[in-house]
Amino acid sequence: MSATDVTALVRPDLRAFAGYRSARSESLRGDVWLNANESPWANPADDPSATAGGVRRYPDPQPAALRQALAGLYGVAPGQVLAGRGSDEAIDLLVRALCAPGDGAIVITTPTFGMYAVSARLHGVRVVDVPLLEAGCNGAYSCDFDAVAEQAEAAGARLVFLCSPGNPTGSALPLEAVDALATRLERQAVVVVDEAYGEFAQAPSAATLLARRANLAVLRTLSKAHALAAARIGAVLAAPALIDVLRRCQAPYPLPTPCVELALHALAPEALDVTRARVATVRVERERLREALQANPGVRRVYPSDANFLLCRFADAQSAFDALLAAGIVVRDMRAMAGLGDALRISIGTPEQNRWVVEALSNMAVAA
Ligand SMILES: *Cc1c(COP(=O)(O)O)cnc(C)c1O
Repeated sequence: MSATDVTALVRPDLRAFAGYRSARSESLRGDVWLNANESPWANPADDPSATAGGVRRYPDPQPAALRQALAGLYGVAPGQVLAGRGSDEAIDLLVRALCAPGDGAIVITTPTFGMYAVSARLHGVRVVDVPLLEAGCNGAYSCDFDAVAEQAEAAGARLVFLCSPGNPTGSALPLEAVDALATRLERQAVVVVDEAYGEFAQAPSAATLLARRANLAVLRTLSKAHALAAARIGAVLAAPALIDVLRRCQAPYPLPTPCVELALHALAPEALDVTRARVATVRVERERLREALQANPGVRRVYPSDANFLLCRFADAQSAFDALLAAGIVVRDMRAMAGLGDALRISIGTPEQNRWVVEALSNMAVAA
């Protein structure tokens, strides 16, 4: 499939859809801008040192500097990048652009990130679940790629959401299998690889497949490794034809200027060096914490993780949760998820915080 053919997978009623034409989308030149009903004065609260008082203007929908910086970071061309309000927006855009409302299906592989199903349900789209396989003793979760392909074909799904490294499982998916799945579904569906935790994994990004696979989309975010969750900046990496379609479905001004400024600073070399050093620390701490938890008699299993968290099964998850909470430590209770009735998800903290976790759990009442 050529890069342009991916538009064949887009909703037929949206293929010629232009979206909202904002005042910003016209390529006019001038010194006095009176075309968008903005204020001619800056707000006194608009810090001129940070944004040059520029917040009074509607922002550039896709600032070239940000697109360029994200493209450099993720090893793709700027035309393969759509910047948006975190991966949450990207998930929603993909569902809306590819699935007609009240029609069609997406495939997910539980246990997984909840937003894929939420976006699909809000759009009236059926959710087909192909649960991950749990391997034997101490093995990681794995994806049943054949079953995913079969179910996607049977349901006529337009989207397959994969998460790598997975949330909450922590395991990365083999790229060859993702590649083969995209090839098999190339006339039918876009395969989405959510790499919200990609920085913490060793394996290369699925973005390395984009040159060959037009029906692939990779989701990245500055929320986790880059420590900018509140700035709400994420990116879709995909073929330029698909990026264009998603842009036309996106809100006219998705990126607040102060957030873009912050992201650009975070993507400058000095900040990136700090981020990389912290990612390295998380990787070391993750293995240290995993070993310490394994040694706790109240812990049934700690899954191997390529992310910045550990999924952990307990003999008595309530006691573990309570012991942590008594020490002021809040972790994610996973017990409501199918197959995870005894599990908690613990984010990797600073070395000191991780020691507190180990200490708090050593005081946990172990059920007989
Ligand atoms: C945290 C998380 C996200 C959310 O990313 P935002 O960019 O903050 O919206 C996306 N996907 C997964 C799997 C996550 O765990």
